[in-house]
Parts: sequence; structure tokens; C-alpha cells
Amino acid sequence: MTVVSEEVDDDDDDESEEVMDILLRESMAVDAGRPIPAARSAIERLEKVTFEDRLGWIGECIICTEEFEGGLELTRRPCSHVYHGGCIVKWLKMSRLCPLCRYPLPPVH
Ligand SMILES: [Zn+2]
Ligand SMILES: [Zn+2]
Repeated sequence: MTVVSEEVDDDDDDESEEVMDILLRESMAVDAGRPIPAARSAIERLEKVTFEDRLGWIGECIICTEEFEGGLELTRRPCSHVYHGGCIVKWLKMSRLCPLCRYPLPPVH
């Protein structure tokens, strides 16, 4: 096992892809070595919420590592974790599990 700890400070995209890679690997460990995408109907049913600081939610999208700003429209999973709409859709097309708590959505058939 090789652990690469290379600091990339000047390019956010690289950093977020690296994070997704790590998260995906963790989710693969749960799903027996391969990520299972979520069903499209399940993705479409996800709740849209507006981020408000005072609700005390996790203030950061773990997928792109960006902090949420007040008034932003986000997508909430059944486990109550929230992500940017674009980030979680991209994620769910690869893995049905929540990157934070592994709570699964219905898988594709
Ligand atoms: Zn995001
Ligand atoms: Zn979760």
C-alpha cells in the first residue's frame, strides 16, 4: 500500500477529485469492492433545501470540500446530510452510499 500525500494548493479541482477518490474507495469497501450507483428515481426524489447557518448543519460539502453559504440551494439525503445538488448527483451516479455515514439509497437494477 502506497500513501501519496502530495499537497496541491493552487488547484481546487484536483483537490476535490482527490477527495472523491478517497470517499469512493471507502464506499467500495462497504459495497464489496465495487461502487453501486443509486437509482435515478431515488436521485430525483431527494429533497431540496436552502442552507441556513443557524440550523447548525455541517457547513461544508464533503465532496467538493467547499463551505456552504447562507441562502444556497442544497440537496438533502434521507440521512439528513446535505450536499451541493451537482456534487451529490455526480456522486450518486457512482455510489448509492452517503459519503459521510454510508446510508444507502435504492441501487440501480
Ligand atoms: Zn459540493
Ligand atoms: Zn449521511
